[in-house]
Amino acid sequence: INITKAEYIASAVEPRQFPEEKLRQIAFIGRSNVGKSSLINSLTRFHNLARVSREPGKTQTINFFKLTAKYYEDESIKDFYLVDLPGYGYAKTGQANRKKWASFIEKYFLFPQDLYCVCQLIDIRHDPMPSDINMFNWLLKHEIPVFVIATKADKLGKNSISKNISCIKKALKVPELTILPYSSVKNEGRSYLLDFIGHALVE
Ligand code: GDP
Repeated sequence: INITKAEYIASAVEPRQFPEEKLRQIAFIGRSNVGKSSLINSLTRFHNLARVSREPGKTQTINFFKLTAKYYEDESIKDFYLVDLPGYGYAKTGQANRKKWASFIEKYFLFPQDLYCVCQLIDIRHDPMPSDINMFNWLLKHEIPVFVIATKADKLGKNSISKNISCIKKALKVPELTILPYSSVKNEGRSYLLDFIGHALVE
């Protein structure tokens, strides 16, 4: 697929602000600063869609973007929501804010909707942090499909990429997991992710 249109629809801090139109959703989540905004911009090629922020922990809303996917084979089109979830694990946030974040995110995940999967972003350079592992396990426990994407892959050489991918699998305790290395700088992993979304929308 190709993304032919992308528009910002809404920012929500509670379920009544979620968009009314029922479209399939693909959500993105990760620690603050993991490269989520950069990935969304690289994926859609709409460069200011998700703001790339230098102030981690700032975006505390759930942002909905309506994207149009066009299939190469028959030029058919399909709309879906890309859902940008607020980053977790920011140290300066404080416990009260973290609690607020958790209950807010839970409301989103437990809200009845057509959520196909959550793309969880993890920095390829480091072992997953406890907050990454907790998030991953929470999604598994609630039977929400997760697709793990290892960001900033351009910062490592080929050998380190496969070594670090293995470490992430080990830390998440799912050896058979598929993890996609992604670089927003080089657009590596982009076609794979677009294919994945293309399949997701017709399944
Ligand atoms: P967010 O807080 O998760 O939305 O993260 P951002 O997209 O704002 O990125 C955080 C920082 O990492 C920024 O300085 C980006 O330029 C940098 N960054 C994000 N993705 C990549 C990548 O794929 N490669 C490299 N080298 N840097 C990246």
